[in-house]
Amino acid sequence: MPGRNDPDPPPNVTLGAMSSEERLVKSLGWIFVGCFLGIPIVVLLTAGPQVSVAMLVGPSLILAIVMSAWYLTLQRRQRKALEKAGYRGCLNCRYSLADLPDMGTCPECGTPYTLEHLQRSWSWTYSKH
Ligand SMILES: [Zn+2]
Repeated sequence: MPGRNDPDPPPNVTLGAMSSEERLVKSLGWIFVGCFLGIPIVVLLTAGPQVSVAMLVGPSLILAIVMSAWYLTLQRRQRKALEKAGYRGCLNCRYSLADLPDMGTCPECGTPYTLEHLQRSWSWTYSKH
């Protein structure tokens, strides 16, 4: 799960920047991978050879389900919030462009935008592709 394994965006689309929560989940993802591999090893080392398969994979499986559910919920929430705001968020810094013209530069980071490009890019960023 760590990182986005998305294909390259189409030429008329810019991949939107990750929110702080998405960055957190991404960095936790590496810890998760470590736990996923480490838990069975620790169980095997502490419980000895008579360990059951359930004991071996159970904790990792629960961890995988929890992390996946968190990530999917987060993605859905981000998409809904952007949809609700008419996709008016800077692609570079996620600054709200809600009260600004349909075309201009982000007052926060200076990235140029058009509403059409924002809509296309954000819906691509949060679509299943
Ligand atoms: Zn910006």
